[in-house]
Amino acid sequence: MSEQQTFDVVVIGAGPAGYHAAIRAAQLGLKTACIDAALGKDGKPALGGTCLRVGCIPSKALLDSSRQYWNMGHLFDQHGISFKDAKIDVATMVGRKDKIVKQFTGGIEMLFKANKVKAFFGFGTLHNGNVVKVKQHDGSEVELKGTNVILAAGSDSIELPFAKFDGDCIVDNVGALDFTEVPNRLAVIGAGVIGLELGSVWKRLGAEVTILEALPDFLAVADAEVSKTAAREFKKQGLDIRLGAKVSATETKGKGKKKEVLVTYSDAKGEQTLTVDKLLVAVGRRAATKGLLADDTGVKLNERGQIEVDAHCHTGVDGVWAIGDCVRGPMLAHKGFEEGIAVAELIAGLPGHVNFDTIPWVIYTEPEIAWVGKTEQQLKDEGVPYKVGSFPFAAVGRAVAMAEPVGFAKVIAHAESDRVLGLHLVGANVSELVHEGVLTMEFKGSADDLARICHAHPTMSEAIHDAAMAVDKRAIHKAN
Ligand code: FAD
Ligand code: NAD
Repeated sequence: MSEQQTFDVVVIGAGPAGYHAAIRAAQLGLKTACIDAALGKDGKPALGGTCLRVGCIPSKALLDSSRQYWNMGHLFDQHGISFKDAKIDVATMVGRKDKIVKQFTGGIEMLFKANKVKAFFGFGTLHNGNVVKVKQHDGSEVELKGTNVILAAGSDSIELPFAKFDGDCIVDNVGALDFTEVPNRLAVIGAGVIGLELGSVWKRLGAEVTILEALPDFLAVADAEVSKTAAREFKKQGLDIRLGAKVSATETKGKGKKKEVLVTYSDAKGEQTLTVDKLLVAVGRRAATKGLLADDTGVKLNERGQIEVDAHCHTGVDGVWAIGDCVRGPMLAHKGFEEGIAVAELIAGLPGHVNFDTIPWVIYTEPEIAWVGKTEQQLKDEGVPYKVGSFPFAAVGRAVAMAEPVGFAKVIAHAESDRVLGLHLVGANVSELVHEGVLTMEFKGSADDLARICHAHPTMSEAIHDAAMAVDKRAIHKAN
């Protein structure tokens, strides 16, 4: 082993959380190293974590390709556009996705160089005394010591014991982003974010998609009205979502192109079977802590296997922090971004802070689903008095002009103070609109503030304006 190298900050993991922490720490003048073990499809080191390699960005690339294809068959005729023999070339579509991934993972390497973050490519293990031993891809080992160490190891897919990933027929997100052709029949276990997004991709391209969800309610994390509208639209699109479906066994049969998976599950009607060509297991992710911590570090894991941290992402061990998917809170890239920046700033003596109450959620289906803040159900459970205003996109000029009338905006405000407590959206491009709610809530604004802000006409954002006015029964474009 070579001589120990010392840094102000050593980050383990160069995903969204880790690379934000590393770059911000370096910007603040701290001598910073960042270690990542991941390899790209080409077998070369690829920075950027799950998000850039096999998560947010590649899934959105395929969602966009498949949306264009779907719209040709389902939207263009309304505009008077017709065409003959539309075809999808999966290799080109996946190749486009791979180029985007390469561009962005390479971009992180460039940003590290530009900010003087020293990158190490290999697997890091934290030892007592803030020492990190790195097993590099060439087999050599280096030892780093950080005044501060930030653990940003991310998460891995949860595997079900009766549906082990085989990289071919039974896959997680990694496999489902790389199918070489459109499967005739695809089953998905889990109607969560990945199941809905990747199920939508292959449905739009022509697969028969069945989603098996163990819980009796669809998308219970979202506002109930939003989930209801989304479920109705997904059904119209042909996504077969079966609720209360508990999978108990899978069996792979046949060989080569004839390989198929027999899925056994039970629901209210009893035991059922389903035969498919591909099975995507998307039942959640767990913190990737295997091999990360030597026995003597003092860093604790909680009952869910996540690294235990306080509200400021400190582990309780001097100079050791943890951020992103490997700690509590939603597994979202932008939550990791904010924690990474906050921890780097705290290390530099600045007042780093994350407001966990204003983290937006987006599900990139069609319609898109987006929200920030509390749902009505949560407020009821907490006994908080609230009032609601909602407005349908069907009454928004821009939405109708775009032939995208589905969905609505819903503003929830405190019954007495009028302070905005939540914004819930379902409709076209609402991923871009949700930030109006984030901003209002960050600045502790009221529904009246939103109602008095001038919104450009015609835009989709007018739904939020009218919804805010509807909170006090003064929406202009609908009966109150
Ligand atoms: P990760 O991105 O998982 O990065 C951790 C990195 O650390 C990895 O590169 C790993 O190789 C490395 N590592 C781990 N342990 C070690 C070690 N011991 N030594 C060296 N390196 C190590 N979130 C959104 O906000 N929006 C989306 O649209 C979205 N879409 C998604 C789609 C899919 C299909 C998936 C799977 C996830 C999606 N997510 C999305 C979630 C998002 O990808 C994660 O929340 C985010 O990547 C977490 O960032 P992170 O930095 O904590 O961890
Ligand atoms: P998820 O938690 O969103 O959904 C998992 C679903 O599987 C849940 O509905 C759960 O009830 C169900 N489930 C669990 N065990 C089951 C079983 N045995 N049988 C049937 N159903 C079962 O998890 P995910 O979809 O795997 O995504 C993982 C994480 O990645 C999410 O928490 C999310 O934070 C993140 N992600 C975010 C985005 C985005 O922001 N657009 C996109 C993809 C992933």
